[in-house]
Amino acid sequence: MTYDYEYIKQRLAPCGLHCGKCFAFAQGDISKLSGELKGSLGNFDAYAERFVDMLGEPIFLKYPAFKAFLAHLSAGSCGGCRKEKCKLFKNCGVRPCIEKTGVDFCFQCHEFPCNKTGFDEHLHRRHVAINNRMKEVGVASYYEEVKDLSRY
Ligand code: SF4
Ligand code: SF4
Repeated sequence: MTYDYEYIKQRLAPCGLHCGKCFAFAQGDISKLSGELKGSLGNFDAYAERFVDMLGEPIFLKYPAFKAFLAHLSAGSCGGCRKEKCKLFKNCGVRPCIEKTGVDFCFQCHEFPCNKTGFDEHLHRRHVAINNRMKEVGVASYYEEVKDLSRY
């Protein structure tokens, strides 16, 4: 399957990070799979309590916290960086910047790598590595490389 540029742009943020694999992304695997698991577990609450004694497995006492977390993951509602302000990197300077520079991705910008991203050292390193890779192989090939990988 080949992916068109616009589809890829909805999943790869201008900085290159993969919104499509973010837990907060509405159309992402994490949200979708969490919703499916939530549905498959159905009314597991009552069973979890029973399984503590029945199976001698205290791990089932943790089910309420797991269920709450699953509900949180399944409710991912972000439309991605090109549609709304990132919920994770509140000081991101890339999104407002590309509105001025007009590029789709930072590697296409003549200032890359720059000091306008607002990223910490760790994220800066990822930003540079991702964009160098996109520059090297092209956006479509880069997306093929990362589309099934966890971003975490
Ligand atoms: S914009 Fe931020 S919060 Fe939204 S999907 Fe992308 S990385 Fe996640
Ligand atoms: S100036 Fe920096 S943050 Fe802005 S588009 Fe260029 S590389 Fe990205």
